[in-house]
Amino acid sequence: MIYEQIIDVINKSSKIAVTSHMQPDGDNVGSSLALCLALQKLGKKAVFILDDSIPELFRFLKGAREVEKPSFFAEIDFDLVIAMDCGDLERLGKVSQFIGNTKLVNIDHHISNTKFGEINLVEENASATAEIAYKLIKSMGIFIDKDIADCIYTGIVTDTGMFQYSNTSEETHSIAGELIIAGVSPSDIFARIYQNSPKEKIMLMGEALKSLEFFNHDMVSCISISKAQLESIAEEDIDTEGIVNLGRDIAGVEVAIFLKQKEPNVVKVSLRSKCYVNVAIIAKDFGGGGHVRAAGCAITGSIESAKQQILLAIQKQI
Ligand code: 5GP
Ligand code: MN
Repeated sequence: MIYEQIIDVINKSSKIAVTSHMQPDGDNVGSSLALCLALQKLGKKAVFILDDSIPELFRFLKGAREVEKPSFFAEIDFDLVIAMDCGDLERLGKVSQFIGNTKLVNIDHHISNTKFGEINLVEENASATAEIAYKLIKSMGIFIDKDIADCIYTGIVTDTGMFQYSNTSEETHSIAGELIIAGVSPSDIFARIYQNSPKEKIMLMGEALKSLEFFNHDMVSCISISKAQLESIAEEDIDTEGIVNLGRDIAGVEVAIFLKQKEPNVVKVSLRSKCYVNVAIIAKDFGGGGHVRAAGCAITGSIESAKQQILLAIQKQI
C-alpha cells in the first residue's frame, strides 16, 4: 500500500531530489544512487543531494561523482524530495532547511525513525535501506541493470556487516542472488570495499587500540581516539568506520564503545552490541539513534566524561 502511494507520487513528479544523512556509509550512498539511477531511467530529473562528500571507497558506484550540495535546491524547483536511510530530519544537515513545502517521502529501516515524511516507508526488519530500494524499484517495473545492482549490493553488504548481522534474512540473500544475476561481482565489490583501506586507516586502528579498556567483567569494551591522535596520523579526515568492531569482536564482549573526539568539546560515540543489549535506546537517551545492535550519538564534553556517561547508561541495561 505504501509502495503504491510512493509510486503514485513519483509518477506525478518530474523533478526529484534524493537525499540522505551526513557521514555517509555504503547503505545511504548505495540506496540513494540506486534510486536516482532508476528514476532517471523513468525519464525523471533525479539528483542526489547530500550535505557531505561521498567517501572515496564508494566513488566507483555510478553517479557517485554527480552528487550535489544542499545549495543546489536553489537551482531546481523540485516536486518531490525522497530521504533515504535517514532516521530524522536533523541528520540531513543543511538539506532540511531547503525542503520547505516540497512533498517529502521518507524511506528507511532505522528503529529510531521519527516518521518525518508525508509518506513514511520504514521497514525496521529490512537489513538495509538498499533492500527497500530494491523492492521499490522492482515494484515500479524498472529493469535493474548492473549499475543499479552494484549500488544495492554495496548497501546490503555494508549494512549487514557482510551478511553477518541478525537482520540478514532469507530475503536479503535472495535479493543478493538476484543482484548477482543482474551482473554484480561479489568478489569485485568486496575487494573494493574491504581490501582497499588507505594505510593511514590501519595505522589509526593501531593507535586507537592502545586505548582498549574493559568494564563489567569484560562484557563492555571501549576504544577511544583523540583529535590530536587523529591529526598525528593524517591531515585530512580519516575514515574510522569499523574500529568499533575491533572491540565488539572480542570473545565475551556484549557492548563495544568507540569514542572519537570530533572537536575539542564534542565526542562522537559509536555503540555496537552482540546479542541482547539494545544500544538504540542508549543512543536515543543522548539525542542519537540507530539500530538495536548498532547506534550512535554525539556528546558534548571530554572523552573521559562521555565514556563515564555512556558506561553508566550501559550498566543500567546489561
Ligand atoms: P555509526 O556508529 O556507524 O556511526 O552508526 C551506527 C548507526 O547509528 C547507524 O545506523 C547510524 O545511522 C546511527 N547513528 C550514528 N550516529 C547517530 C546520531 O548522531 N544520530 C542518529 N539519529 N543516529 C545515529
Ligand atoms: Mn542503513
